[in-house]
Amino acid sequence: MKVTGKKLLMKKRKKKVGEIHDRILKNREPRTMKTILEKFSSDYENVWQLFKHMNDGIMIADNQQNIIAVNPSFEKMTGYTFDEIAHKNLRFLQSEKTSRIVFHDMWEKINLAGSWSGELMNERKNGELFWSYVSIAHIKKDREENNYFIGMIRDITDRKKVEERITYLSYHDTLTQLPNRTLFKKQIKEAIRHAKHHDEKFAMLFLDLDHFKKVNDSLGHHIGDQLLQHIAKRLQKIIGTTGTVSRFGGDEFTILLHPLHNKAEAYAMVKQIIQSFQTPVDCAGEKIYSNTSIGISFYPDHGLDFHTLLKNADSAMYQAKQAGRSQCQEYNYSMNQGSRDRLQLERELRNAVQEKQFQVYYQLQVDVEKGKPYGIEALIRWAHPKKGILPPAAFLPAAEETGLIVKIDDWVLRTACQQTKKWHDEGFKDLVISVNISQKQFDRYDFVDRVKQILHETQLDPGLLCLEITENMAITQIEQAVEKLNELKKIGVQLSLDDFGTGYSSLSQLKYFPINTLKIDKSFLQQSSEDQENHAIVKLIISMAKSLNFSVICEGVETKEQLLLIRNEGCNHAQGYLFSKPLDFQNCESVMRTMKENVNIV
Ligand code: C2E
Ligand code: CA
Ligand code: CA
Repeated sequence: MKVTGKKLLMKKRKKKVGEIHDRILKNREPRTMKTILEKFSSDYENVWQLFKHMNDGIMIADNQQNIIAVNPSFEKMTGYTFDEIAHKNLRFLQSEKTSRIVFHDMWEKINLAGSWSGELMNERKNGELFWSYVSIAHIKKDREENNYFIGMIRDITDRKKVEERITYLSYHDTLTQLPNRTLFKKQIKEAIRHAKHHDEKFAMLFLDLDHFKKVNDSLGHHIGDQLLQHIAKRLQKIIGTTGTVSRFGGDEFTILLHPLHNKAEAYAMVKQIIQSFQTPVDCAGEKIYSNTSIGISFYPDHGLDFHTLLKNADSAMYQAKQAGRSQCQEYNYSMNQGSRDRLQLERELRNAVQEKQFQVYYQLQVDVEKGKPYGIEALIRWAHPKKGILPPAAFLPAAEETGLIVKIDDWVLRTACQQTKKWHDEGFKDLVISVNISQKQFDRYDFVDRVKQILHETQLDPGLLCLEITENMAITQIEQAVEKLNELKKIGVQLSLDDFGTGYSSLSQLKYFPINTLKIDKSFLQQSSEDQENHAIVKLIISMAKSLNFSVICEGVETKEQLLLIRNEGCNHAQGYLFSKPLDFQNCESVMRTMKENVNIV
């Protein structure tokens, strides 16, 4: 085999380094490092320089693991001078933070394989702990007493700190400092392992704040953030050491209660949590009241793995919300059925959008004085391939949750405008078309542009389009809402406030909204025609609307008595089964023709 020059050089160097070690070891009484190394001839100057200036600490120990040489970096890193540690056993550097097992394994590996490397927590002279990357080799010589150890040690504390920070960040939520979803999952998995082994129970709580979005929208995200921070602290205080609180995302928190002796313990916690929400949170001088809906699932009753427990706690939370918020529900099987149905519905809805299974129905609005058609409200229906024509209540909540509502509403608006334009052209000249707008659609930054675009496409007179928004949409994010409404008004579009009386805007706020029409919710007429209080409200709303120069439309007019009542109060328009139910466009058209030809139907 040909020995190259480079190899030869390396071989030579290796021999020299070996000789240094031999000499160090043979010199059994070194006073200082310098004295040891001074014994070497100038040939070894380079090695000495390397030993002296290397950033990594180097130490050499004899066969009994007693230190016989260390370099300056080692002294700097550990805080010990060579004199202080000469002949001491290597163990003195070990900190109690590293388990004995690690050291045991380390020596076993060195004995077997001749070397070991790994990360160790060591201790400096001043007691400070530091992370180090250590490589130790056992150098075997001709005689056992000449064997020695050479170790290289690197301070990796900074790197470890960065690593720890990264680990912390990937497991914690930056806003509340609570464990995040990833850590929660780990903790649940650990709890399952433990509970399985020791035959224990535990509880998973899923909390969702009620109406958090409104806080964010009306008071701003910074207040929303503060509220979450306060709630996080509050929850942690209540739970203490009985479990762990995590922020699952958005306004959702999850709590693991482990170990748990019985369900009553979990319920006692839940009670405290719900009670704690009765005290408002002080955010930047604002007292904010919030509520939470809580769902619980228990291990092992409601699931044996993380996903099942989570899904079930979530279903239970959803039920708690449905049951009227600020409540707690424990999971039961029928809930899962509910969420399965919901999933199925969502799937079918997406399909329905693609397959164009929706239809617009039209319901007449009548001029109370003239008794003639005044306008029409567009109301969506789903022509379901198996279930037939479905009303909006059967699918709009799911469409809103999934965001599909935006596409659907766009389609309704376009279809209704197209149809109305046709009716205008066919002689129903001043017919006003009213279209419902969902919160999600209204919130879109380009909402006004979309309306303009549809008006342009369909060539409908903007003055004959009326958009129905609800009170709640207008009072959350009031400034943006008013701005959008003003823009719409500028292009001539009419605006009406739907379901008036059911939301929480006060009458005094109404003057800020640039609306044309108040639409009194059908519940005021419907509860009972003898209901004096409701009638008083209807009268009050009509007179107040008049004083603010709004026109008024009453919905849900089913009887002549109801019609008379609102007519006497000066209500302008009426909508209800008394005139017509919502109908498809052909049927609606024939009702309109009949009404047009007949004399006053009122
Ligand atoms: P809404 O805007 O309050 O619509 C009036 C509802 O009252 C309609 O229910 C209508 O059929 C019903 N109604 C009309 N007259 C009477 C009556 O005399 N008696 C009774 N008991 N009910 C009457 P519908 O069509 O089931 O719609 C329910 C809700 O769904 C609507 O309430 C509206 O909020 C929403 N909606 C309907 N279509 C759309 C749409 O295209 N987009 C959006 N975003 N929401 C829609
Ligand atoms: Ca409406
Ligand atoms: Ca309504």
